[in-house]
Amino acid sequence: MVAFEEQGSVSAFVPTTIPCRYAGRCSVTCRQLESDLLDPATYADLDCVKNFRRRTICISILLTLVIAAAGFCFAYLQAERSGVDALRSKAESQLTRFIGRLEREIDKFGILPLTASMNRDVIDFLQAPQNPVAVDAMNRYLADLNRSAGTAHAYLIDPSGVIVASSNWNQPPSFIGRNISYRPYFQQAKAGSISGYYGIGTTGNASGYYLATAVEQDGRRLGVIAVKIGLEQLERDWLDDVEQPVIVSDSNNVVILSSRSDWKYHTLGAIDPVLAAQVLENQQYNRHSLEPLTWAPTNRLADGSFYVRMNDATGSHNYLAVSGDLPRDSMHIAVLTDRSEIWRLAMAQGIIAAIVIILASLSLHVFNQRRMATQERLRAREALQEAYKRLEHQFDKRSAELRTANEGLRHEVAERIQTVRRLQTFQEELIRTENLAVIGQLSAGLAHEINQPLAALSTLSENAVRFLELNDHATVRFNLERICDLVRRMGVLTGQLRSFARRSDGEKTAVDLGRSIDSAVALLGHRLKTEHVRITLSVPDEGIQGFGEAVRLEQVLVNLISNAMDAVAGNGEAEIRVRTGWQDSHPVIEVADNGPGLSSAVLDRLFEPFFTTKKTNGLGLGLAISQDIVRNFGGDLVATNGSNGGAVFKIILKRADAPETEHA
Ligand code: ADP
Repeated sequence: MVAFEEQGSVSAFVPTTIPCRYAGRCSVTCRQLESDLLDPATYADLDCVKNFRRRTICISILLTLVIAAAGFCFAYLQAERSGVDALRSKAESQLTRFIGRLEREIDKFGILPLTASMNRDVIDFLQAPQNPVAVDAMNRYLADLNRSAGTAHAYLIDPSGVIVASSNWNQPPSFIGRNISYRPYFQQAKAGSISGYYGIGTTGNASGYYLATAVEQDGRRLGVIAVKIGLEQLERDWLDDVEQPVIVSDSNNVVILSSRSDWKYHTLGAIDPVLAAQVLENQQYNRHSLEPLTWAPTNRLADGSFYVRMNDATGSHNYLAVSGDLPRDSMHIAVLTDRSEIWRLAMAQGIIAAIVIILASLSLHVFNQRRMATQERLRAREALQEAYKRLEHQFDKRSAELRTANEGLRHEVAERIQTVRRLQTFQEELIRTENLAVIGQLSAGLAHEINQPLAALSTLSENAVRFLELNDHATVRFNLERICDLVRRMGVLTGQLRSFARRSDGEKTAVDLGRSIDSAVALLGHRLKTEHVRITLSVPDEGIQGFGEAVRLEQVLVNLISNAMDAVAGNGEAEIRVRTGWQDSHPVIEVADNGPGLSSAVLDRLFEPFFTTKKTNGLGLGLAISQDIVRNFGGDLVATNGSNGGAVFKIILKRADAPETEHA
């Protein structure tokens, strides 16, 4: 962008660059913009600006990516935390519900063995368990107790561990007669404590919770009464009810209840070999092999919950585990929530946050670019307005200066026109002077040419008078006719001289070249004759026309032929050849002689005014004026040496039928 400034009194165009928006940040740009006159629209094409923009875009993209990554992480963590919180609170409420249900289920029967152990019939029976009537009565009692309490089984064990009465006495396989002295709950109850114990029945292979207590009489242990609570219903309820997997493990870390049946009787982690041997011996889990589940806690959280990874037939799962204890029964219950949902949610939120940041950054970038472009446009407009004002001021000033200069020029032109007119007059005078010189030369010949007819006229007229007196009218008539011829001839001679001497009317038109040559040769006829110069004319019959003035052209031809005659003077075979023709479609008159030709010194100065080699009769103006006349016709006069010696002068004219513009 360019503005114009004034420097001192001299007006000068000084570029004012529009401040570059990269000024201060890109030295290359500033230097270039200071030196180059640039439209703001072309800023973007500058290499330095391109580099700067590319760098800015790279930095912006990098920053955006960093911020987007940070935003992603932040949103991911936030979403994960809130997701975990939500899942945990849901799992915790489920856990509370499950624990309550389990406790209620067990508590419901907790008092039953103790109450039964104090029953008189039971005590009496254990004192004499061999009596078949008493066994039958006790079996029926236990069956009634079992049915009315809703337990799975109720049975009495003698101190040696043999079941002596059972609620399933009449259903195969009945417990009666089985020795369960190895079962921990029997051993614990026999030792005096009320035991709660989870196990799998060795007879029916059904799992359940065993409650047992000793039957005593006067501090003597008579046996043990045990009830088995079936937990199948609870498991069935969980399967129907529970969305997340639930695990109930016992003190051996063995899964004893689970909503996932394939996890049951697996251990959470590796089992101690001693314990394995022990449970095999007491058949707590019957014959289940107790394979460990791939249970790998990864991260324990502050509130006690933890993340755990589990592999099973359906693949690898990451769970959030919320767990609680049933201390009295040494059970541990855990609600597992699949974390993949949280991960998916957190990922989605993270991605949304990153996209939002990228879009916001993009919008910011576009907004910033637009803002800068608008500022640039405003600055450009201001600079333009400023430049326009200065230009206007400059224009006014220059206009005033030009007006003054114009006035001066007009004066000068008027003066020049005056000078040219004076010069033309002077040139006319010179031509006349040159013509007069020629006329002077011609007049001697003319006088001779006129003297002869005059003498003849005198003789003829005297004879005519005499023949009239003799009445010889025929001879008088003959003499008068001769007199008329002679007068006409003299008239032609004087007419040609007058025509040569007269001023030109200045009007250029089509000129017949042959006629001009004839007139010139006629004027010089006497001299040619007396000096014995042979003149050869070569003019085509159809004639050739050129553009010029007939009088002036005759004057030029007279001058060239006169010079040629001067050059061949004293030559025994003096010859002048005048011919017309065409050169490069220009009409040409060529005047050649067989004189000494033109030396290089003469050729150099031939057309200079007042250059002459003639001692007595030369003015040195003939060729200078002749060339000026021909150039004034729009043509040229040139001189060379002929190939066979002698000088050759060529008048090159414009065509008479050339377009008007060429004649201007
Ligand atoms: P001037 O005839 O008065 O000398 P011009 O201008 O006519 O002036 O001629 C200049 C000079 O050019 C002559 O003096 C002569 O030396 C030379 N010149 C002109 N025509 C011829 C010619 N045909 N042959 C040789 N020299 C010539």
